[in-house]
Amino acid sequence: MASVKPLPVATPLLHDESINSWLIRVSLNQGCDLSTILFYHWSKYNLRHHDFDKGFNHINKQIHQDMAVLAHTDTKFFDNRSLIQFNEDIGLEYRPNISLTWVLPIPKFHSKTMVGHQYCAQCMQEDKSAYLRLKWRFSWIVYCEQHLISLQSSCSSCGLPYQPHLIKANHRFINRCPHCREKLSAEAVNQLLCTD
Ligand SMILES: [Zn+2]
Ligand SMILES: [Zn+2]
Repeated sequence: MASVKPLPVATPLLHDESINSWLIRVSLNQGCDLSTILFYHWSKYNLRHHDFDKGFNHINKQIHQDMAVLAHTDTKFFDNRSLIQFNEDIGLEYRPNISLTWVLPIPKFHSKTMVGHQYCAQCMQEDKSAYLRLKWRFSWIVYCEQHLISLQSSCSSCGLPYQPHLIKANHRFINRCPHCREKLSAEAVNQLLCTD
């Protein structure tokens, strides 16, 4: 049984989308900040301090069930989108205080660490269909297979790291730099990769 009620605007979980991305889009679609959505639905868990892409089954299985209600989908899609699940699938044991193998870190909610989230500027071009792919969290993914350009992790307008968890409701879309509010765009020196 879910403990949440559906939101006025349902936000589907997209193909390859990370849970982090979905949560940010849910909040932007309702016109509020990420922290508001987290507090409204799951205040007792203090989820802000977690890496959302790990999934939440190690905290409480109820949370994925709730998210499935909000996304109008099945819980298994959230279970399968979890980095912890991925780690277990390749035979690695999850240990709470140890970083996941091959996963790039993202900054904690209130941390000032200047770490950016990897993205493909072309995948993120369209405001309404922009979202973060879970695979961009892996350290071995360095370019976009579709657009054959290198992934980048900072904003080409201001040079600061792309930190999607800081995006506010008035930025409206996930493809905005939370520091300068400009739309994410490809770096001028982005080299086209040779298909070989
Ligand atoms: Zn791309
Ligand atoms: Zn910027």
